Amino acid sequence: MSKKRSRDNYHNETKFIHGDFYSPHWNYKDHMTPPISSSAAFRLESAERGAEGFIQFANPDFDRHGKSPILIYERLDEPSRSMLEENLAVAEGGECAVAFTTGMAAITASILSFVKAGESIIAHPTLYGCTFSLFSLWLPRFGVNVKWVDLKDEKALEKSLDPTVRAVYTETPSNPILEIIDLGKVRKAIDRSKLKEKPLLIVDNTFATPFCQRPLSLGADVVVHSLTKNIGGFGTDMGGMWVGPKKLENVLLMFRKDFGAPLSAKSSWQPLVYGLPTLHIRMKRQMETAMKLASFLEKHPLVERVSFPGLKSHPQFDIAKRQMKDPDGGFAPGSMIYFVLKGKLEKAQKSGRLMMNHLAEHALALTLAVSLGNVRTLIEHPSSMTHAPLPLDAQVKAGIDPGGIRISVGLEKADDILRDLQEAFDCAKKGG
Ligand SMILES: *Cc1c(COP(=O)(O)O)cnc(C)c1O
Repeated sequence: MSKKRSRDNYHNETKFIHGDFYSPHWNYKDHMTPPISSSAAFRLESAERGAEGFIQFANPDFDRHGKSPILIYERLDEPSRSMLEENLAVAEGGECAVAFTTGMAAITASILSFVKAGESIIAHPTLYGCTFSLFSLWLPRFGVNVKWVDLKDEKALEKSLDPTVRAVYTETPSNPILEIIDLGKVRKAIDRSKLKEKPLLIVDNTFATPFCQRPLSLGADVVVHSLTKNIGGFGTDMGGMWVGPKKLENVLLMFRKDFGAPLSAKSSWQPLVYGLPTLHIRMKRQMETAMKLASFLEKHPLVERVSFPGLKSHPQFDIAKRQMKDPDGGFAPGSMIYFVLKGKLEKAQKSGRLMMNHLAEHALALTLAVSLGNVRTLIEHPSSMTHAPLPLDAQVKAGIDPGGIRISVGLEKADDILRDLQEAFDCAKKGG
């Protein structure tokens, strides 16, 4: 190791592949590719070594980083997962990472590992559907109060910061309408508050990915991810990740040990070997295509409006330009697009449904599916799909546009996606 150059001389894109260039979790003497370790329990060479392992695990006085772990049981610690955790911490510029079976498990742990009954969190109201459901249905049942505050409104945020508040939670860009939250402003509002114990700023960075945005460098304390999306990238495995300061790591590890849901070795291996190392080239290509699609949609006569952080017409374009940057500082607005079809309630919803069914039947470059961040371009229409059980007026009240469509741009050739979309528009225009 001593002959090698300093790791600091290497770019982030290289670190997506190599992490910190050294891992105590695996011996690379023979293997170039890390293994899928597959062992639920591990052999202990003595009772004393077992005791030492239990003493070290999640012990705030023991810094596990840079040391070979004493492996005991897969739910506690496991080599393939640990290597992914190291590399993701490097990618996000965080001190450490803890991996979970899904994004939702990581989000649940990010709150319940330290917020108690009687305390509260502040959350921005446009959120991924299941996060919204976790916060509105489940947290209150455990006595955790959720205050819904539009984080674009600094005054409202300042007013709601009281001593019961332990966390401020947001996505940026948000699902599905791609609002941008100014993280620096939220950070300042928290710091200006007179609270003795400052709430943690937790950011779901799934839409942007660590290639397009590193929230920890913008003032966040904790970042959460669904690895199922762009970091995994190929849609083969589910996963979730918490990235944050070392002082919280032990609590997260204890929470994961007792509540369960650690990422399996097999599901860790895919993002470690394929997903994260290729993230930057996929994102670059996806963003290039997203820019072309967004410009096409913006000019389309059937489209009321387009929300894409890369368009000057985006209401928070200036904030997006400031905080969504690739590791070299270039503007990186991501690969998600949201647009709204023209027409009043029923008409807009019908146009959306016609487009979806036409695409499902005829298109090869777009796939009708939920999820996002895949090598395939995925399209969905919340009003006639995920939110179909809600009557139209209730949808509008919940912020769902009857003609709103979300596209997650993949790696297909842009012209093919454009042609398939144009045909679907033509079908909607004819009325089926
Ligand atoms: C998908 C998603 C999640 C949940 O992740 P899962 O891996 O599906 O549990 C959370 N937040 C955002 C923004 C997502 O897109």
